[in-house]
Amino acid sequence: MRQLVRHSARLAITVTGLIFMMGATMSIEAGPSIDSAPYGKLPDGTPIDLFTLKNAQGMEAQITNYGGIVVSLKVPDKDGKLGDVVLGRPSLDDYVKSSPYFGALIGRYGNRIAKGRFTLDGVEYKLPISNPPNSLHGGNKGFDKRVWTAKPHMTDDGPALDLSYTSADGEEGYPGKLDVKVTYTLTNDDGLRIDYTATTDKATPVNLTNHSYFNLDGDGSPTILDEKLMIKASHITPVDATLIPTGKLMPVAGTPFDFTKPRLIGEDINSDNEQIRFGGGYDHNFVLDGESGKLRLVAKLYSKKTGRLMEVLTTEPGVQFYSGNFLDGTLTGKTGTPYPKRSGLCLETQHFPDSPNHPNFPSTILKPGETYRSTTEYRFKVAPSINE
Ligand code: BGC
Repeated sequence: MRQLVRHSARLAITVTGLIFMMGATMSIEAGPSIDSAPYGKLPDGTPIDLFTLKNAQGMEAQITNYGGIVVSLKVPDKDGKLGDVVLGRPSLDDYVKSSPYFGALIGRYGNRIAKGRFTLDGVEYKLPISNPPNSLHGGNKGFDKRVWTAKPHMTDDGPALDLSYTSADGEEGYPGKLDVKVTYTLTNDDGLRIDYTATTDKATPVNLTNHSYFNLDGDGSPTILDEKLMIKASHITPVDATLIPTGKLMPVAGTPFDFTKPRLIGEDINSDNEQIRFGGGYDHNFVLDGESGKLRLVAKLYSKKTGRLMEVLTTEPGVQFYSGNFLDGTLTGKTGTPYPKRSGLCLETQHFPDSPNHPNFPSTILKPGETYRSTTEYRFKVAPSINE
């Protein structure tokens, strides 16, 4: 396999049989590659890098070791033109100042824990109330705001980036020292695969995810309402007004939540339905059909305009479909255009929200000696319809 791994100012050009060393970076062939470049500095002076992964077809992902954020993801449309399909901020400083978790890794616990409290082995733990009255996405300084140790490498599957982070015992109120490793791979079949593992020295809840906001019409397009969605889920976990699950499962049949057959996201998003009202649109955990623990196709998103089709595969039992209801035009994106309400959507693969307080939900407790494992892949195609 012809491949290219470059770092900062060093240049290597791979042409079948020829390697030139020169003073500036250029690439004259389309083999898979990983490039790293400085992305900026945090307010405390910590330098942060931006990694550019390209696969053999030219699909490209840019990922930073600040929060493990997927900054851009360029995939072809029906005319073969690459376009960025994820939302993000113009610079590292902007991500630090304000970002609703655009593209970031989320931990220790993706989604909400009611009133920031849970009891484990008879001890009550208190977490920061980052989304009153609950704790959301790991607290005030979750994994999305941490500096990860990055190791780029090439695999038979495509260019990959290992990101490691050790979360200290007691960090953001959670018990145990948690060692986390996340590998992003830009696969040969146009997927962005995310493999998560974690180990702990004390029992602790773990629920890791990625918070990319997708818009298959391209970053900066006004809404996702004309895109079609399918989710293989016959139930959701209905929530109360603070978006905490009631503990019941609600069948989707005959409700705005029935995406078992593909339909336009905008169709029922403003309907007079209590769950839609609580979420301000879709902001719910869908209980995925099929056996969790196995990587399986669970959702598809399609844009007729661009012909882009995204398939979501995961080992997780649930996915949070969040339709970007809290975007309000105040944040500008990478191209300088504001992000209005519903200009991107998240499909956050996960265990169910607030599981530590719901013994009937699949357990999220990781114990010493065990390894947490989770895999999700967002795979891209061009197709005449979502049914391809
Ligand atoms: C949640 C939303 C929240 C958003 C943060 C999503 O995962 O479900 O309720 O507002 O993250 O931007």
